[in-house]
Amino acid sequence: MTHKTQVGIIGAGPAGLTLSLLLHQAGIQSVIIEYRSRDYAESRVRAGLLEQNTVDLFNELGAAERLNKEGLQHQGVYLSFDGVRTRVPFNELTGGRGITIYGQQEMVKDLIKINIEREVPIHFEATATKLEDIDTASPKIQYIQNEETHVLECDFIAGCDGYHGISRKSMPTGSYNEFQKEYPFSWLGILAHVAPSSDELIYAYHERGFALHSLRSETVSRLYIQVDNNDKVENWPDKQIWDELEIRLTDNKGFKLNRGEIFEKSITPMRSFMIDNLQYGRLFLAGDAGHIVPPTGGKGLNLAVADIKWLSAAFIDWYKNNKEEPLLSYTSNCLPRIWRAQDFSNFMTTLFHKQAAQGSFDYHLQKAKFNYIIQSVAQATTIAENYVGLKEI
Ligand SMILES: Cc1cc2nc3c(=O)[nH]c(=O)nc-3n(C[C@H](O)[C@H](O)[C@H](O)COP(=O)(O)OP(=O)(O)OC[C@H]3O[C@@H](n4cnc5c(N)ncnc54)[C@H](O)[C@@H]3O)c2cc1C
Repeated sequence: MTHKTQVGIIGAGPAGLTLSLLLHQAGIQSVIIEYRSRDYAESRVRAGLLEQNTVDLFNELGAAERLNKEGLQHQGVYLSFDGVRTRVPFNELTGGRGITIYGQQEMVKDLIKINIEREVPIHFEATATKLEDIDTASPKIQYIQNEETHVLECDFIAGCDGYHGISRKSMPTGSYNEFQKEYPFSWLGILAHVAPSSDELIYAYHERGFALHSLRSETVSRLYIQVDNNDKVENWPDKQIWDELEIRLTDNKGFKLNRGEIFEKSITPMRSFMIDNLQYGRLFLAGDAGHIVPPTGGKGLNLAVADIKWLSAAFIDWYKNNKEEPLLSYTSNCLPRIWRAQDFSNFMTTLFHKQAAQGSFDYHLQKAKFNYIIQSVAQATTIAENYVGLKEI
């Protein structure tokens, strides 16, 4: 069966769902094709840190009612090295900006609900299998739903289908350069029914490896420890995870870790990846389809939304003002922010993970970098403004 729309969107993650709402607000039609079921998409545990720009955009879209009620606003972050803890106060150093803690799955739930209320079609359990005619004015998405093959004819295709999706793979290989860095460690992450042990996030370097204390709500904590890339969840009974977190998060001020029932456990590899061209013909990539950052800087989801701001503005200019230039500048508009986030995510990753023997030259360089945050307001400000997200790029 053949269907038509103006913008065909592949993927109902933060990128695709935000794009459809921005287009709807401007009176532009779109259809979302999503491989997973609605239940699966709404319960997938991933990011949880929203930059100020992201929260501002959801407010502009009228999609922030629950986020404003349930999101936890943080005005700072704790950083530790060998048990010495300092706080970087975002609001003081960035003119009042901060971050909001709100689970990605909650945000996806809100965005799906609002899309459906605004009658944006979302086809769940529909797999995009082929993109055709992407270098013509009439590109097509072939997808399979309920064992039936469909074709969605569009003016443009937005590839918001994540790292493993079909969109990036549909671009000719010679049309972009690829950059990749694999880190020699992964994160074992848990979600637990327990009140957070800290009012703000704690990043900690310890000689046994990195630990992060994060949270999702006043009753759910999210914590991570650095593990080897070949480690397995089965190697980590709950008690051992709590014991390890306690050791790594200990500070010189008597930090106490709350323990509770662990209800989610997974291992995530650390990777930096990007391509330097997000457009080929009428196909535009956004979010994880074009770039992956290690989660240490909390940037993945925010970058996806930042791409969409540029992409939606370019589509709107094309439809409303007949202007093509913003579409042609889409990649060059996005790249500075992506590279900035790549650098910050890499900086936070290398600063707080154990990579060299305790007492080695590299260890002392790491420690000197940490001490400089305590010694210099300029360095603390650099961290603060990157963490809350630069306003303009
Ligand atoms: C395990 C994990 C943990 C993470 N933890 C953090 C974190 O702690 N902090 C942080 O900032 N970021 C984290 N991230 C990154 C963050 O979640 C992503 O950057 C964010 O989800 C990007 O949004 P997106 O919309 O671009 O892609 P996604 O959220 O990946 O959405 C892409 C969608 O496309 C769909 N899709 C894929 N292929 C097809 C197809 N062929 N047809 C139809 N649909 C398709 C997928 O089912 C998916 O719903 C994590 C990512 C992962 C994978």
